[in-house]
Amino acid sequence: MIEYRLNGPASQERIRIRLMAALRENRFPQSILIDGPVGIGKKALAMEIAQALQCTNPSVRPCGNCFGCKMATDTGVTDNWVVPMEAKEASARNAADVSAGSSAKTIQDFKQAYIEEITKNPYRVDIFSAGAVISVELIRTMTASFAMKGDRVRVVIIAEADRMNDSAANAFLKTLEEVPPNTYFILTTSSREKLLQTIRSRCLALHLPPLTDEEVRQEAIRVGGEEFDESTLTDDVIGLAVGSPGMALYYAEHAKNWSPLAVDFIEKSLSQDYTDLFFKLEDSGLEDPAIVNRFLEVLSFLITDLLRQQSGAPLRIPEATGSVNLERYPQVGASALEAALVSVQETMSRIASRRMAAVTCLQNLSLKLFEGYK
Ligand SMILES: [Zn+2]
Repeated sequence: MIEYRLNGPASQERIRIRLMAALRENRFPQSILIDGPVGIGKKALAMEIAQALQCTNPSVRPCGNCFGCKMATDTGVTDNWVVPMEAKEASARNAADVSAGSSAKTIQDFKQAYIEEITKNPYRVDIFSAGAVISVELIRTMTASFAMKGDRVRVVIIAEADRMNDSAANAFLKTLEEVPPNTYFILTTSSREKLLQTIRSRCLALHLPPLTDEEVRQEAIRVGGEEFDESTLTDDVIGLAVGSPGMALYYAEHAKNWSPLAVDFIEKSLSQDYTDLFFKLEDSGLEDPAIVNRFLEVLSFLITDLLRQQSGAPLRIPEATGSVNLERYPQVGASALEAALVSVQETMSRIASRRMAAVTCLQNLSLKLFEGYK
């Protein structure tokens, strides 16, 4: 009997045991959907499964050495993936149509660069820009490649599948209705609800749980590489990450600026020292809506922690929370903090809708924050 070995953090062991049993018993579903929070290792698991399915070793899979394993892990085999791309990348010419010697980048070149980034660090949360989508052309390129596949097992990972636009989703649904033999689709998403219900219902759903704080630390260090500075993984950063190594790495890079800025945001909104706060916001480089909303997540965490502090509950980000001085504002109690939290959430959806410049939204938020309690 063939033994399957999928590796990963202990918190996600239960899902892997289930998958290994399906592989061993030769009843692996042809389409699965892995969902769960951002940066917890959905793509990493998808890659492990893809390799195990394509491996031809007679005793242990994946072996890492056979032709199937090599094809599964070769970042140059762009047919293994569908990834979101920016419009200008997705409309680049196909490699097959470019004359030899041309230096123009092809759609496969752009795709390969993304696949290399994912392979280097599958937890990374900022590989694709906010505007990148899976267009119908990308789905058609994928289905066209089936004609050339031959008999070997084919696995296609559709990363961040919720970024399929309507025409892509409808085209993909047709493929899902009749999946070719020896072909498997692995979809990953952190926004399951954005996927067509008809696509969801045709995939086996697997919900990947977050990691423990200790696993987050270990995984972040492991994929961070040699140049990664471990001292940036403070307790606050681990607290902000909520079980996601990808978010830990993201906040390790940004939190040292964002935590003090969030503390300032609260204190200066209360003292109505807007001029100074507005200068700081301008200097912060916060501009891209997706990034501004990540900063607002830090602000939400801080306000939630201030609420916890009032009720004596344990804190998620003790360092930042401990540095907020609320003593001068005894009127700011639980109801003021709860109202502030609602204002932050409202600002996040306003920023996501992109109707107004993100920085203007931040300035409006500071004017509104703790309204009636200043
Ligand atoms: Zn193998």
